[in-house]
Amino acid sequence: KPLCENDLVEDHLITVCVRKRPLNKREMQKKEVDVITIPSKNQLIVHEPKNKVDLTKYLENQLFRFDYAFDESCSNATVYKYTAQPLIKTVFEGGFATCFAYGQTGSGKTHTMGGDFNGKTQDCQKGIYAMAVGDVFRLANSPKYRHLNLVVSSSFFEIYSGKVFDLLNNKAKLRILEDGKQQVQVVGLTELVVNSTEEVLKLIQKGNQARTSGQTFANMNSSRSHAVFQIYLRSNNNMHKIHGKLSLIDLAGNERGADTSSANRQTRMEGAEINKSLLALKECIRALGRKGAHLPFRVSKLTQVLRDSFVGPNSRTCMIAMVSPGVNSCEHTLNTLRYADRVKEL
Ligand code: ADP
Ligand code: MG
Repeated sequence: KPLCENDLVEDHLITVCVRKRPLNKREMQKKEVDVITIPSKNQLIVHEPKNKVDLTKYLENQLFRFDYAFDESCSNATVYKYTAQPLIKTVFEGGFATCFAYGQTGSGKTHTMGGDFNGKTQDCQKGIYAMAVGDVFRLANSPKYRHLNLVVSSSFFEIYSGKVFDLLNNKAKLRILEDGKQQVQVVGLTELVVNSTEEVLKLIQKGNQARTSGQTFANMNSSRSHAVFQIYLRSNNNMHKIHGKLSLIDLAGNERGADTSSANRQTRMEGAEINKSLLALKECIRALGRKGAHLPFRVSKLTQVLRDSFVGPNSRTCMIAMVSPGVNSCEHTLNTLRYADRVKEL
């Protein structure tokens, strides 16, 4: 049974779901086997090939349950509807919300969050960033919230090897400042007021280009960084105060966390940093549902800059675990699903 209107649950503190992308051309040419089935709207089965003693292959099925499971026929719009869209109300009501794309490199994180642009803003498949901003504009002008006189603005930065870079300002390196009240600030971060979805699409494209430029291996760079796209709501009577904030995060490829035994020192250190931040993130999300739990914010830059999104009285989060369907990705897929499984557990 496909997802339908009644399946939408709007009041989750933590939503965890999984998205499977279709086999790509290269995988089909290599006749790679699709090892993932999604038998229902919240279940996913991995058919893991195992070698028996006599070397004939058999499959071991592993079942996972999440809030939602999106199969390869689901569009970005459908994924958005069940993941980030329900968070937007929270932001208008003065809360801080986050949505994460987690998974191995090539599993569809950037496709889901940033969308695919094909070089032109007019013929693109919108991602969650753009759809969320569209809804934010709609709500800001709706009868329910118009009286708040909210101004919408955006920032876009990258966390790479424990350092923060401004994607809207030539990758300027930024400092993080924590004041006595544990308020965390990214000093000098570009925050642009935005008035239309078109404007935001241009900004996303600019940021995505900055993300992959200046590197010999374009995809390698972006797979090792967390990209953080934020939408702020401020009242135009008091621009200093944030009314609500939505953070949409395209995480570093989780397979990079395992690079800790690489021969290259730099790669090893980056791998350790990614591993540390993804583990801290898991703990911070889990703590959302448990009052008084210890939150390891300071362990990583990622969790440090998201601190206010985990502690607030009105904080909500959603994680989309992305999986590649091919048999060659099986091990990474299982790692991704186990991580997501831990996040959802309370
Ligand atoms: P990641 O950011 O996780 O490394 P990408 O989003 O770049 O992965 O996806 C890798 C490739 O697969 C891209 O070419 C992307 O367009 C394609 N892709 C990802 N998800 C989907 C999907 N659901 N449907 C069609 N193509 C997809
Ligand atoms: Mg990517």
